[in-house]
Amino acid sequence: MQTHILGFPSVGKYRELKQALESHWKGEASPESLLNTASELKKRHWQIQKKAGLDYVSTGDFSLYDRMLDISCMLGAIPPRFLPCHGDAPLDKYFSLARGDIQRNIPALEMTKWFDANYHYLVPEIDANGPWSGSEHPVLADTKEAKSLGFSPKPALIGPFTWLALAKAQGSALKWPRLQSIVAEYAALIEKLAPHCDCIQIEEPVLCTELLPDAAARQFPSMYAALNEACGGKKLMLATYFGALGEKLELAVNSGCAVLHIDLARGKGQLEGVLAALPASMALSLGIVDGRNIWKADYARQHHLIEQALSALGRDRLWLGSSCSLLHCPVDLSEENALPEHIKTRMAFAVQKCAELTALRRIVETKSDPALAENTAVLQAAAAHADSRIAAVRERAAAVSPADLSREAAYAERRAAQGWLNLPLLPTTTIGSFPQTAAIRKTRLAFKKGDMTEAEYEAAIRCEIRDCIEKQEALGLDVLVHGEPERNDMVEYFGQQLGGFCFTQNGWVQSYGSRCVKPPVIYGDVYRKAPMSLDAILYAQSLTTKPVKGMLTGPVTILCWSFVRDDLERSEVCTQVALAIRDEVQDLEKAGVHIIQIDEAALREGMPLTRAEAENYLRWAVDAFRLASSGVANATQIHTHMCYSEFNAILPWIAEMDADVISIESSRSGMELLDAFAEFHYQAEVGPGVYDIHSPRVPTVEEMEALLRKALRHIPKERLWVNPDCGLKTRQWEEAWPALENMVAAARRVRENLEYID
Ligand code: GLN
Ligand code: ZN
Repeated sequence: MQTHILGFPSVGKYRELKQALESHWKGEASPESLLNTASELKKRHWQIQKKAGLDYVSTGDFSLYDRMLDISCMLGAIPPRFLPCHGDAPLDKYFSLARGDIQRNIPALEMTKWFDANYHYLVPEIDANGPWSGSEHPVLADTKEAKSLGFSPKPALIGPFTWLALAKAQGSALKWPRLQSIVAEYAALIEKLAPHCDCIQIEEPVLCTELLPDAAARQFPSMYAALNEACGGKKLMLATYFGALGEKLELAVNSGCAVLHIDLARGKGQLEGVLAALPASMALSLGIVDGRNIWKADYARQHHLIEQALSALGRDRLWLGSSCSLLHCPVDLSEENALPEHIKTRMAFAVQKCAELTALRRIVETKSDPALAENTAVLQAAAAHADSRIAAVRERAAAVSPADLSREAAYAERRAAQGWLNLPLLPTTTIGSFPQTAAIRKTRLAFKKGDMTEAEYEAAIRCEIRDCIEKQEALGLDVLVHGEPERNDMVEYFGQQLGGFCFTQNGWVQSYGSRCVKPPVIYGDVYRKAPMSLDAILYAQSLTTKPVKGMLTGPVTILCWSFVRDDLERSEVCTQVALAIRDEVQDLEKAGVHIIQIDEAALREGMPLTRAEAENYLRWAVDAFRLASSGVANATQIHTHMCYSEFNAILPWIAEMDADVISIESSRSGMELLDAFAEFHYQAEVGPGVYDIHSPRVPTVEEMEALLRKALRHIPKERLWVNPDCGLKTRQWEEAWPALENMVAAARRVRENLEYID
């Protein structure tokens, strides 16, 4: 039985790569020093894998920015707008693609989510003008180096079908006719790699989705035949992950590859079907250690799966691996020294997951390894811990009835009841946060470090809130916000106040490039201890006669941006969070806050990859939002916000959320998505963003006026709101102020001329 992982996180346990990249970008560190750090990290990670007893160490998993970009560079898939960078040094060219070239005003490649993970990749662009000449993929040098250092490398590449399926064709260019020449480039690389390794991992997660067109799927066998031929007798491992193979099982087992890797964390039920279909020439790698969470594997359960595969295949045809790359989990649990012991014993980060794989092999091979009993005892103790199961929380969740999921009346009636809010036509508002200035960050840090008393901190935050209200009054906005100066992060802020959550010190996970996130951990039953947002909102409201929106993060977003316990269904965890938010909503209403926004920024991205699973998810996710939001009177107005625009497919579900007002991102797409809203006969109010807050550019009055006029073609004036695309947290006041001034002016101009709009 061979053991391996699909990849190790690049970033380093202290985020060394982040630091090295950022000082290089600032011009403080030479290319050599960046490459030095990278090389040290790679060696350290190989050492970890070897020390754990894995049979292979992963190469090609490390990237200076993004592995999809690395393939794009190898293929020379560089859009023509980067032509001016062609003569630059290789590293400068690479980072221009990733981050854009500000001096030459060349925008970066687009970035988007890697399937349903929180990692973001750079979207390849296929241009009609054809590819430039490619450059050598760094995996080759890394593999040679690993080998020369005495490791047994397994190079890993994102496969050609996945790369192309995720690429975007520009203009008249077509993607799939390029397949053959792309596969030829892969074959050339494989040929060069083969002498330095025994096995090459080609990742095709696209096989676990519905993204591969039939015409492309038909070419799969011949293309993989070419790749296998290039291997020259060495093994090719076809790695699939993030789901079950489903309909693509046929393709995978007939690929001619020596090893097939399947994900048994996400594709739980697929083992039996795969075993039945696997040809005798193929070995199977079981992805049994979950690469997407932070929990220990359940050895007893996994042991059982391994035995099942073992009796069908024998040990020579069986591999044990991580379900996907460990990129999606933090690096090393032993760095954590503030976690409660009963939680820490349940956890495993990347370093620990490597060891789990070899422990599982020992358990199966020796049949009497103490690790099994130890693991069972730990998990049983965790399950028995008082935080894991709180009777009152369970009872309340079980008692949720359909009535709890519905507002008293339908939208039309609520609309009339909300008339007392006396808002003008085309009311202006913002999404919640205002610029998080250096001063605010300093205040928060000082408080965290203990250099500031709680009273001093509260006073400083109040000062910010007051300033924010004064600014909004001066700007002439209609519905105000408190500005969220007390929130470092919209999920962490609530997580810190809820029962069932805990926080790591170093649990960083790469989000993209040098950016990392440290997701909260939901380890136990979730409940609200006390009101969470009332002080700030009520203070803000006390300063103005204009309405101040209460600002909350929705249950689905809290769930999607956390590491979630794996001993309870996600839908059930979500219900618990929703009940906590529901209490907060009701307390806000009782305290006189009658406009309440519940952000569901992550609802779309949490969607599973196949239609059937997506339907199921949307049902419980939308219900969770309804549970959180529907405990208020008709006269209270519920807003929600989403910061993306690919709505078309889920619009019926957005309508099902039954919010009174929804604000959405749309300025960059020129209000295109409103067609879909009109076509669907969306009933409630809509605030399509007119100001792209992701750019430092200040939009003009005319631009925003034009967007509003365009919006009015799809949304009647009684139901249109005026707001930016998203929160202003990352902007400077120098940009936000004039942009909001222009936005308010644009709304006024359109209001004054409403009779001329048909
Ligand atoms: N209310 C949040 C803010 O303004 C919403 C952020 C988001 O949608 N990502 O910052
Ligand atoms: Zn947003």
